[in-house]
Amino acid sequence: MQVRITVSFPYEAPVSQSLFDRASAVTPGGVNSPVRAFRAVGGTPRFMVSGTGPYLTDADGREYVDLVCSWGPMILGHSHPEVIAAVQDAVARGTSFGTPGAGEVELAEEIVARIEPVEQVRLVSSGTEATMSAIRLARGYTGRPKVVKFAGCYHGHVDALLAAAGSGVATFGLPDTPGVTGAQAGDTIVLPYNDIEAVRAAFAAHPGEIACVITEASPGNMGVVPPLPGFNQGLKDLCAGNGALYISDEVMTGFRVSKAGWYGIDGVRPDLMTFGKVMGGGFPAAAFGGRADVMAHLAPAGPVYQAGTLSGNPIATAAGVAQLRLLDDAAYEKVDAVSAEVRGLVTAALAKEGVAHRLQVAGNMFSVFFTDAEVTDYDAAKAQESFRFTAFFHSMLSQGVYLPPSAFESWFLSTAHDTAAVERIAAALPAAARAAAGATA
Ligand code: PLP
Repeated sequence: MQVRITVSFPYEAPVSQSLFDRASAVTPGGVNSPVRAFRAVGGTPRFMVSGTGPYLTDADGREYVDLVCSWGPMILGHSHPEVIAAVQDAVARGTSFGTPGAGEVELAEEIVARIEPVEQVRLVSSGTEATMSAIRLARGYTGRPKVVKFAGCYHGHVDALLAAAGSGVATFGLPDTPGVTGAQAGDTIVLPYNDIEAVRAAFAAHPGEIACVITEASPGNMGVVPPLPGFNQGLKDLCAGNGALYISDEVMTGFRVSKAGWYGIDGVRPDLMTFGKVMGGGFPAAAFGGRADVMAHLAPAGPVYQAGTLSGNPIATAAGVAQLRLLDDAAYEKVDAVSAEVRGLVTAALAKEGVAHRLQVAGNMFSVFFTDAEVTDYDAAKAQESFRFTAFFHSMLSQGVYLPPSAFESWFLSTAHDTAAVERIAAALPAAARAAAGATA
């Protein structure tokens, strides 16, 4: 449903609008991934034509400070010269061979070197593929059917993982997307996030049936809702005690919140992990990996089948390797520092206008919830006054700051967000905070 916009636009986006009209004629909803369509906030999605450092330029020639960073991957900013050079070098040697290549080995070695629980890794092309394959492997390894996931956690559009908590039917994992059958979602148990007793109860109710628990290492897909102290460890312990695998989905947090992702922050050792986004340097590269004895069940070493024509693509791996090698401690310190600075500016502007809000933080990822209450699960996230975000978003957009077009997403920064970019954000915030304060449902 299209949301009514409660702010007026000080400028139009005629070229983006005409591209969107053309796109809508040939592509469902005019986009190739739903949240890009601005449905949650209304208005015309901006069609971007280029990106440099912390800035994006749209088809109408307007420049924006980018706080989406391609939903996480662009942690070095856009068009980083060393990543571009690595890509150009790779492209000049050919685009796909369908054979093993040195770039795949280098990327796998980077991942294994950074993330201690990952003894072996398999490269794929999207986060969705990574979680789908990790779950298949967990089922193949344990010989068990059921999967536990948490409401509000997103693991890509895997059929079995699109089951979310519907009131009163959560434990039956009823599908909430047409096209996902009851059979596909029937072995998915959906539980409230941060509720370790619910997980304990699920293991008690389904002895010997649960193959794995999959969780976002620190969720960013219902807005940023970090695990309560001890929650991830509790998951790990319950899995270990019940013969199930603990799968930590680090597609968003991996290589973003620290050199070793969220694992580098909480140190809870998963059996399997999934990655994407940052590790591809802006190209389609993702991975799953973990315990060598579990990974040994994967074809061709073992019987669990998994494959991909473009897996380990030479351009994607070149971009990923270049990006990861540039991500040293100093780079993470820089992103952490600019994230803290922007958070301080956002909260000061909203507080000045008396707007009830909470900034929730996971490393350098954060999001703003328009509520007084702490947000620890999906129900609490949904209870915020998201109409205030709509007004805030459009005010920022009209002033040249590109936020995620949804109140339920993390904001992302990069090493390229310098003083000039932060000053532009700071200059836009007072009017956006006033818009949020004056917004009505
Ligand atoms: N897992 C998490 C935690 C994600 O945030 C996402 C995407 O946002 C995915 C999986 C799916 O990744 P992809 O969009 O590359 O399929």
